[in-house]
Amino acid sequence: MFKNKSIKKALIALLFLLYIGNLSASGKKDDDTPVSTQENRSELLLGTVCEIKIYDKPTNIAFEAAFQRIDEIEQQMSRIIYESDLSRINRNAGLMETTVPEDTFNVIKEAIEIAAISDGAFDPSIGPLVLAWGIGTDNARVPPQDEILQLLPLINYKDIRMNTKLSTVFLEKSGMLLDLGGIAKGYAADEVREVLLNQEVESAIINLGGNILTIGTKPDGSLWKIGIQDPAEDRGAYVMILSIQDTAIVTSGPYERFFTVGDTTYHHIIDTKTGYPVKSDLESISIISGDSFVADALSTAVYILGLEAGMKLIEKIDSIEAVAITYNQQIVLSSGFLSGKIQYELTDKDFSIIPMEKYLKAQP
Ligand code: ADP
Ligand code: MG
Repeated sequence: MFKNKSIKKALIALLFLLYIGNLSASGKKDDDTPVSTQENRSELLLGTVCEIKIYDKPTNIAFEAAFQRIDEIEQQMSRIIYESDLSRINRNAGLMETTVPEDTFNVIKEAIEIAAISDGAFDPSIGPLVLAWGIGTDNARVPPQDEILQLLPLINYKDIRMNTKLSTVFLEKSGMLLDLGGIAKGYAADEVREVLLNQEVESAIINLGGNILTIGTKPDGSLWKIGIQDPAEDRGAYVMILSIQDTAIVTSGPYERFFTVGDTTYHHIIDTKTGYPVKSDLESISIISGDSFVADALSTAVYILGLEAGMKLIEKIDSIEAVAITYNQQIVLSSGFLSGKIQYELTDKDFSIIPMEKYLKAQP
């Protein structure tokens, strides 16, 4: 899965740090009184660090079942693993239908729905361009313009045929490739929640490469405090803190995976119209939702749509809120923040908060 050595090294370093963190978090006092029942475990899966923190009932069975579920999802939905459902669909592009299990079918179906509501900004058929750019792999490169122009006609979610009765997927044109990198981590987080709830865990944080999903509240009944990353700073520097329970927070931005040629930086979210990394007016976007699955796809979609169109889309969906950060250090909040649905605290005074309504009024 890891082709890029520097990413792999960074992930291993991070994993090591998390491991050290675990020791101290679940350590015991000298008199052998447990200081906490909390336990954290991390594994490299889905091309990223997957961390699970259980605060009330950490058992080996719960952790093992959770990581096994993530592994299963990776085996089904990776574009790189040869025998995955996704690779089978991709090899059969233009040739024939592929029968897939229910969960792969549902993830593709949801991805197509997000493609439809984002007017094709988010598009799971982005695979040929993701492959051509190779961002996050050793083969990262700027593809020649004519190559990009040749690939563009292959990117169209309307050319994905799905048959619900038969549970089949068919890509109409040969050369088409599905890529679920913008949605699979979110799906996996929701599935881990199911696994943990079945193990009677009622207080936990699932963090799959920055896709955060909280279960319940802290053991003392108080809300979880989750930081929104400062996109211009190292990991762990926050601009604001949200207090939440039973909620997913998923962030997309250009700063997570990229490569640089000369003075130009190329990141991993591709504009389906131009074939180049999206030029967004957002420095980052965080989506807040009950389910991580939808939040993940929407974070990628809203990043691509940009501040105005993206936030308008969020405002249309009642159950979804968003925190958008612009390059001039403004934080635009969706209307649920104004109505008090979500508690928050600005922690970096260099940033200013603008509610969505005010932002829209300020537009000509
Ligand atoms: P991350 O994977 O860093 O959390 P995202 O959730 O925003 O970030 O997903 C980015 C991934 O989505 C890319 O690595 C790629 O696999 C895929 N992708 C890139 N461009 C698009 C697009 N226009 N539509 C759908 N998926 C995309
Ligand atoms: Mg995403």
